[in-house]
Amino acid sequence: MSASGIVFNIQRFSVHDGPGIRTTVFLKGCSLHCFWCHNPEGISPKREIQFYPERCIGCGACLEACEHGAHIMEDGVHVYVRDKCVLCGKCTDSCFSGALEMTGDEVTVDDVMQEVLADRTFYQNSGGGMTLSGGEPLLQKAFSKALLERAKAEGVHTAIETCGNYRWSDLEELLPCIDMVMMDLKHMDPEIHRKAVGASNERILVIAEQLMYTDKPVWFRTPVIPTVNDTPEAIGAIAAFVRRLTDIREAQGNGAPPPMLELLRFHRLAGDKYRSLGLDYKAATLEAPSLAYMDELRDLARSHGIVVKGS
Ligand code: SF4
Ligand code: SF4
Repeated sequence: MSASGIVFNIQRFSVHDGPGIRTTVFLKGCSLHCFWCHNPEGISPKREIQFYPERCIGCGACLEACEHGAHIMEDGVHVYVRDKCVLCGKCTDSCFSGALEMTGDEVTVDDVMQEVLADRTFYQNSGGGMTLSGGEPLLQKAFSKALLERAKAEGVHTAIETCGNYRWSDLEELLPCIDMVMMDLKHMDPEIHRKAVGASNERILVIAEQLMYTDKPVWFRTPVIPTVNDTPEAIGAIAAFVRRLTDIREAQGNGAPPPMLELLRFHRLAGDKYRSLGLDYKAATLEAPSLAYMDELRDLARSHGIVVKGS
């Protein structure tokens, strides 16, 4: 039997997770807790129930199905008591309105590759492939490694989206079966970084630099978040760091492309997911930066002589 892991989504025909048309496999569990994360269901390494009360039609099927009293009616209102739930899945199986969903399936490498290989023709025609995302794929290292090795053996291009918060040796072990790396750079100041995501940036900056000594294409990604890094100073500091990394890479003389920086505009679309998981959405009051301001920040980054994705 092939290795198994916990996956919360397999997205086919993805065009934002690397070159070409891709299948993105989202693995559960992350060591950072970015308060704006648009995949909050990827943070916990365990399976979770998502409850959307607005979709509930009050049929009572889940109350009957649950042997642990985790679904109750209080004054005519359906309440899901998360503390009592043992994640058996009986209620989600019996709910047909979409109000209850289990997020996180235990799947094998064979299961995942069956879906990934179904779109092999699209990868070949578009220069796409498979991307591992999350969560943080390195938190399920053995499973990620097995997926990447299988994809390479099948001739599928492989990419990884990673937060970089681990030891270099962890990523180094997987590099022989990774074709490109996408990695977040959220702030250059370790304390601001710690306050925003729950950990310092020290290990991340080491990984970013180590990657420059390889021949892997690297895309750095900066989500532009109001109150965290939406200033010319913060973006300028990231661009200056990428400039230094560009110099390191050029000095290798191995023909590897310079690193690219992508600035991603904050959006507030994840509120429903946070509520469904019983989590506080701390980014609920933030306003998205304007498109014009995003372009200004990109121009600023470009002025450091680095490759910046987008208009
Ligand atoms: S997953 Fe099982 S224990 Fe949890 S609420 Fe549903 S039926 Fe009850
Ligand atoms: S089974 Fe679904 S629709 Fe029926 S009461 Fe439970 S949550 Fe609501």
